[in-house]
Amino acid sequence: MTAREKRIYLSPPHMSGYEQQMVNDVFESNWIAPLGPHVDEFEKEMADYAGAAGALALSSGTAAIHLALCLLGVEQGDIVFCSTLTFIASVNPVLYQGAEPVFIDSEPDSWNMSPLALSKAFLAAERNGRLPKAVIIVNLYGQSADMIPLLEICNHYRIPVIEDAAESLGAAYRNKASGTWGKFGTYSFNGNKIITTSGGGMLVSDDIEALNKARFWATQARDPAPWYQHSEVGYNYRMSNVLAAIGRGQLQVLEDRVRIRRSIFERYQKALSNINGVGFMPEAPFGRHNRWLSVITVDPQKCGLTPIQIITELESQNIESRPVWKPMHLQPLFDRCTYFTHGDKSISDQLFETGICLPSGSSLSAHEQNRVIECLEKCMNKN
Ligand SMILES: *Cc1c(COP(=O)(O)O)cnc(C)c1O
Repeated sequence: MTAREKRIYLSPPHMSGYEQQMVNDVFESNWIAPLGPHVDEFEKEMADYAGAAGALALSSGTAAIHLALCLLGVEQGDIVFCSTLTFIASVNPVLYQGAEPVFIDSEPDSWNMSPLALSKAFLAAERNGRLPKAVIIVNLYGQSADMIPLLEICNHYRIPVIEDAAESLGAAYRNKASGTWGKFGTYSFNGNKIITTSGGGMLVSDDIEALNKARFWATQARDPAPWYQHSEVGYNYRMSNVLAAIGRGQLQVLEDRVRIRRSIFERYQKALSNINGVGFMPEAPFGRHNRWLSVITVDPQKCGLTPIQIITELESQNIESRPVWKPMHLQPLFDRCTYFTHGDKSISDQLFETGICLPSGSSLSAHEQNRVIECLEKCMNKN
């Protein structure tokens, strides 16, 4: 092998320059403390962008999901329905509350929660006399779930929805922002997301009173008193003013980042669709995918290699790629949990067995993308 080429990451942070200016302002004013004017502004700007009545800036997307569950009164002994095909952070907060997740399969058009599987889960819950307290719907890899039929089912049973939009900021469902369809929506600004504050999250809702309650819990639940007085359990979950400044800079370029990520996906699709056995994560007709990650599927019988072998080939060229999330119902942590499939076969299992996430960062150069494409072409049998 020749001199090792520079590493290509899956989804690295991509600063615009605006962030540095904002952070300089923070340093000049010495607002290094948690909370401060940039936090307030970032919340307003995010609420405006999403079209929600309010927003609460937090230390992570996981914290946002946790507080949403607290707001819905989820506690020990409760059940929460969750998308199975997701990152563990969607579900861990259910365990923080001592509740039990029940997992719902994906449907093939969006790879998100299947209305068919959700209906089955509700029918079974009704039979057992134990309805869930909440439903967490994930918008996978930047594409909204099919919210209208899913909400119709949840509304029928009067069960509130938390939309985990950590990966889908900038995406839309029927021309309305992804993350604003449920009672609560949650975003993440972790370093690998479409925009980042290095770490952070946001809870959005049209229920301002609920957001105020969450704001109280997120700042150690301090009762209004001249001394430190507490009558409820609280958390230290707020976003710092420094990180909010980064977020404000990033939010200015979000639309541009979506455009670039979409064009990266289109290039992969053009270049790889002539390889036998390669498929692509579909874009469902009901929304705009932000293409946070470009995801392909491979049929090992036709390509001659399994996804793990392909990931290893890419790694040998110093290119980072990953399998599709291992579904939650297959995780050792959840081996006793109930799972409802879309049909006879589990769609999420199939996606896990065939999917590969390719480098998708908005700073990916044409040269770098060509390196990824060439490596894939070389290692799979072309027909
Ligand atoms: C990243 C992510 C989260 C959690 O976000 P953090 O900010 O890292 O806590 C939650 N759900 C999904 C689907 C994610 O991809």
